Amino acid sequence: MENELYDFTIIGGGPTGLFGAFYAGLRQMKTKIIDSLPQLGGQLSALYPEKHIYDVAGFRKVLAKDLVSELSEQALQNNPTVCLEEKCITLEHIDGEIVITTNKATHRTKTVLIAGGVGAFAPRRLELPGITELEGKGVHYFVTDTERFRGRRIVIVGGGDSAFDWSLALGEIAASCIQIHRSATFRAHEDTVSKVQDGGNVDIRTFHELRGVHGTDCLEAVTVVDTQSGEETQIVCDDVILTLGFLSNLGPIKEWGLALQKNQIVVNAHMETNLPGVFAAGDICTYDGKLKLIVTGVAEAATAANFAKTTIDPTAKAFPGHSSDMK
Ligand SMILES: Cc1cc2nc3c(=O)[nH]c(=O)nc-3n(C[C@H](O)[C@H](O)[C@H](O)COP(=O)(O)OP(=O)(O)OC[C@H]3O[C@@H](n4cnc5c(N)ncnc54)[C@H](O)[C@@H]3O)c2cc1C
Repeated sequence: MENELYDFTIIGGGPTGLFGAFYAGLRQMKTKIIDSLPQLGGQLSALYPEKHIYDVAGFRKVLAKDLVSELSEQALQNNPTVCLEEKCITLEHIDGEIVITTNKATHRTKTVLIAGGVGAFAPRRLELPGITELEGKGVHYFVTDTERFRGRRIVIVGGGDSAFDWSLALGEIAASCIQIHRSATFRAHEDTVSKVQDGGNVDIRTFHELRGVHGTDCLEAVTVVDTQSGEETQIVCDDVILTLGFLSNLGPIKEWGLALQKNQIVVNAHMETNLPGVFAAGDICTYDGKLKLIVTGVAEAATAANFAKTTIDPTAKAFPGHSSDMK
């Protein structure tokens, strides 16, 4: 039923929201997840599905998309309602309930977990003539399927983690791979930089910037400039991948009356915000010592779900007992 009252509504289906949904299910709360993206997984699905993650407990190494798949299966076993492609716009307390409106519907709930990560995030785009028209036709800001680049001539722009991750992954399968960066200083993990430099699959050109993209129906070439000599070169290629960082925006969440610090929601040790019944966890929250990691986000989600349980039922214990005793 569309407008049923839920116990626990989670804004954001990233790793934090997914684990929160699992834990709420364990505590037998009627749970809903709402996300503005078309898929679950948050940053892991949208930004780096093919990247390996090395710092999740229990996984020596796991692909982001595989971790999302495990988290989703774990979260969905208790059948939470999942609403995708719905952006939460308002949150209000009305007649003892919390009411969230999205671009599609109104949701009623007793408690809320805001797990909105960096908010609605978008890649930093480059402004060059004709580049917008070629987006998706050879100009990319995300890589969601590495196989799409097999046998193609690729130019990767950037010197951070994403640029080197894609150089490492795509250098092996592309027909050719050139990485350009505007300085000789890289912001990526040293180990990945060494692997790309030593691997011999990628032609790294420092002090180079992208100056132009060319093509009518699809990308055919790019112009790069050597910023030291000023010399311009045209490179014939099929794809250019731009990794220039992301712009995040809390957007409507800023208007909900939450106490914020540097665009993050202030929480206490129970993960409660200043608004009654409203919790926050993951990248979107802040407290003294906060680290923005998947493992900390999921731990905070478990804390939030357990204290939400006590908000709904003051006779319930926050400590859930051991999961091995529950089944
Ligand atoms: C390239 C890269 C590599 C990384 N590597 C690692 C790593 O190796 N290890 C590690 O621990 N961390 C890593 N991180 C960080 C990690 O991805 C984040 O800490 C994690 O994704 C935070 O999870 P979250 O669920 O809190 O937020 P997110 O993953 O950002 O998910 C938030 C979700 O909320 C949704 N949302 C936001 N606002 C609204 C709204 N108003 N309405 C509806 N939905 C909304 C968004 O669409 C999104 O799906 C990496 C990050 C990047 C960018």
